[in-house]
Amino acid sequence: TIPFIPAQDTEFIDIAGSSIGGYHIVKLLGVGAFSRVYLASNPQGKLVAIKTIQKGKLLDDPRVRSSIEREVGILNYIDHPNIVHLEATLETEQMMCIVLEYVEGGELFDCVQQMHHQLSLTHTSVDETLVKTLFLQLLHAVRYLHEHNIVHRDLKLENILIHKQSDQEILKITDFGLARVVDPESPLLVTRCGSEEYAAPEIVQQQDYDGRKTDTWALGIILYSLLVGYLPFRYDRRKGERVSQLFYRIVRAEVKWPQDCVISTEAKQVVQAILERDPAKRISLSDIQNLGWFH
Ligand code: ADP
Ligand code: MG
Repeated sequence: TIPFIPAQDTEFIDIAGSSIGGYHIVKLLGVGAFSRVYLASNPQGKLVAIKTIQKGKLLDDPRVRSSIEREVGILNYIDHPNIVHLEATLETEQMMCIVLEYVEGGELFDCVQQMHHQLSLTHTSVDETLVKTLFLQLLHAVRYLHEHNIVHRDLKLENILIHKQSDQEILKITDFGLARVVDPESPLLVTRCGSEEYAAPEIVQQQDYDGRKTDTWALGIILYSLLVGYLPFRYDRRKGERVSQLFYRIVRAEVKWPQDCVISTEAKQVVQAILERDPAKRISLSDIQNLGWFH
């Protein structure tokens, strides 16, 4: 097998201030495993985000090129208000670029942390109505993806962006780097991927899995985090815990709520129905909205 060599930092040239294909690069926005995302302005002066993947060693691996092409192909095929919009693609000698709609509020990850930090300072409980509106946007976007036979496979707080539109919080799912088109007749996948904390029990147990069921599980992890402020299944690397301990917790799927918990029973029921260890018994995305929390 071909070793997977991530682009070294030493190869990285800061491109802020320069221009690519008529886009003026303003500053670095975020860094992913294999990419760097920049804020840029398009020829009309509108702000965009440009996800750049350095060529060089990385793109010598044909799997990397095909994975970028797949990401672009999927983004090009979909159109949903809660999914980041593809504007264009560019390729230079040094990199491949995916030009995306710019979402200015940053990652939901930081937003959840700030929100819960603020709540703990003021001894107030989480606004479930807000959590519900945010979660419904994700639910609609992922239902849309699955209806188009696309599974995302990397749903997590870092891959969801947020912005405010006339006082309303709008979420946008991004990062289709691990997304796949599935055949609805034989939807099972084998490659274990995505973040460990968001992995469903069937992935942890190395079974073939239905990406729609594992996306659903990840939505349950996200909903718990929105309500509580941290992930339901964690492991503390600094305390020397191993990933196997995390996997043990996931497979048992025992969702614990904080002791001084003020979260409604109805909200907890939604999380419990989604974080069902048996994928066959796990609630379907279309049934979630029938649960009491939404009425
Ligand atoms: P990777 O596949 O390397 O994880 P992502 O597509 O997740 O790359 O992008 C990495 C980070 O860049 C995101 O987590 C986010 O912080 C930022 N980012 C990505 N796309 C946008 C965008 N359209 N608008 C604003 N920030 C973005
Ligand atoms: Mg990402």
